[in-house]
Amino acid sequence: MSDWFAVEQVGPGAWLVAEPGHVNCFLVAGTDRAVLVDTGLGIADIGAVVRRLTDRPVLAVNTHGHSDHRGGNRFFADVAAHPAAAAALTSAVPAQALAEYLAVAREQLAAYERIRAVDDRFFHLFGAATRPRPLPPGADAWTVPAGPAPAALAAGERIDLGGRALTVLFTPGHSPDSICLLDEAHGLLFAGDTLITGDFWAHTPDTDIERFAATLRWLDEEVGGSVSTIFPAHTLRYAVGPSFLRRAAAAFANVAAGRSAGVPGADLLRRPALRHDFGDFTILRPMPGAHRASR
Ligand SMILES: [Zn+2]
Repeated sequence: MSDWFAVEQVGPGAWLVAEPGHVNCFLVAGTDRAVLVDTGLGIADIGAVVRRLTDRPVLAVNTHGHSDHRGGNRFFADVAAHPAAAAALTSAVPAQALAEYLAVAREQLAAYERIRAVDDRFFHLFGAATRPRPLPPGADAWTVPAGPAPAALAAGERIDLGGRALTVLFTPGHSPDSICLLDEAHGLLFAGDTLITGDFWAHTPDTDIERFAATLRWLDEEVGGSVSTIFPAHTLRYAVGPSFLRRAAAAFANVAAGRSAGVPGADLLRRPALRHDFGDFTILRPMPGAHRASR
């Protein structure tokens, strides 16, 4: 069994299945079946981890078609997503993109190893669910082939798991095919890249900043008063309260309206980006005059 994944129960029948420092996937189980929210990088077999947690049939749901959310789709027979994600999910991820990501993953692991002793002595921020792991065996042979054709999810659709349900919320902005999944009865929101407790990626050709701002305003009005925990797909802060959604919505309104200047900088792949800093999160925007980064 791979040590690549960190598993932590985050509620009744709900687990974080993380590739710490990379992607946070979540498994939600009912009495009849389970949903895996995103399938991660695909650099190790997330299907095997999930089958240890539930013996029910598993539907893999992608919050959007970006490669780091669907890498493990090939480990599942049943996949569902917004229809606009279908083309990406049924295409292979280019080897060059994986090679670039792998280089950054090695940098990230080396950075963690440098700070580990200091963290253990002074700060204690890293825990079992968040310590970055050595790359899994065979990482150099990593490929992400075309995945199975996804079933189409509609806005407002309820995915019945038996005794609990997930509601599909259409949340375009980060990408045109972004969705969130709401577990209304338990007050949980699985946010994908629509909420990020670090760098919001709003600088790629996929992003529509006005739609992103409108989505976050709508999401705050729709569920901000009723959810207790929100689970974003990236960074080690994998669970936040609804106040984070409110602050993100306000920040996006400012950026979309041109009321925030931003500072020239870069994203984690060292591509140029204008960084709008809001304290515990940052909104990345394209550098004026620069070619937009893609992901
Ligand atoms: Zn994304």
